[in-house]
Amino acid sequence: MDKVALVTGGSRGIGRAVALELAVQGFKVVVNYRSREAEAQKVVGTIREMGGEAMAIRAHVASIQEVEEMARRVKDEWGPVGVLVNNAGITKDNLLARMKEDEWDQVLGTNLKGAFLCCRAFVKDMMRLRWGRVINITSVVGVTGSPGQTNYAASKAGLIGFTKALARELASRGITVNAVAPGYIETEMTEVLPQKAKEAILGSIPLGRFGSPEEVAKLVSYLVSPHASYITGQVLVIDGGMTI
Ligand code: NAP
Repeated sequence: MDKVALVTGGSRGIGRAVALELAVQGFKVVVNYRSREAEAQKVVGTIREMGGEAMAIRAHVASIQEVEEMARRVKDEWGPVGVLVNNAGITKDNLLARMKEDEWDQVLGTNLKGAFLCCRAFVKDMMRLRWGRVINITSVVGVTGSPGQTNYAASKAGLIGFTKALARELASRGITVNAVAPGYIETEMTEVLPQKAKEAILGSIPLGRFGSPEEVAKLVSYLVSPHASYITGQVLVIDGGMTI
């Protein structure tokens, strides 16, 4: 059977690097995205140029209809998904007193409900096959908190609890579920931070630099590999020592 992996938010940043890395590992890769079709197709094109197979599917991960439609399409075209990387994520930062209900709902919807809906749509086949790998991309902010990010921190802390509960539920079926918690990684998400904030963060990183999406992708690739077969329910921090 073909090895099929699905990466939510695979069009840019960390998700893009994960999609490319999994293609190198021999997976057929579904590149999910929400709005940037051209960027998703570029990732697909790059994988094809490397001799791999990929397809892009648009779906808002917080929409039950769109996630289920995506799952049906993947199953019809490529069969069951063995590796699910819940990477899609957004920020809508604001101080709590000013935070709008919509900013809360959107962040919790994409970052937490999205992972729930995708897991529910894809793990049934993994259970049937008695093999699967689920990787949830959380954040160090879910462990340490961060001012102005109560919505984001709650979503990422929620994802950690979700990961541990699901790991216990699925362990007997040969499925591992782990979370990867990056610190500061250079992507569009972090590009928008003010220079002063970036400098302050840099000063708090013992390795003295920001991380790259490729470094996170290597960790995801390890968790998916046979070398990580005895690791489940864990939160693997990749932050240059920021949270030591
Ligand atoms: P990014 O560059 O902003 O990319 C976000 C990706 O998520 C894009 O592919 C985007 O698709 C997709 N996406 C957003 N909302 C979606 C939705 N509702 N449905 C489907 N796809 C959606 O972000 P990033 O920095 O690579 O972050 C990736 C993940 O790592 C996120 O979960 C983030 O919280 C986490 N993380 C990042 C950092 C960091 O320092 N960068 C640190 C810790 C954790 P479109 O291209 O279509 O918009």
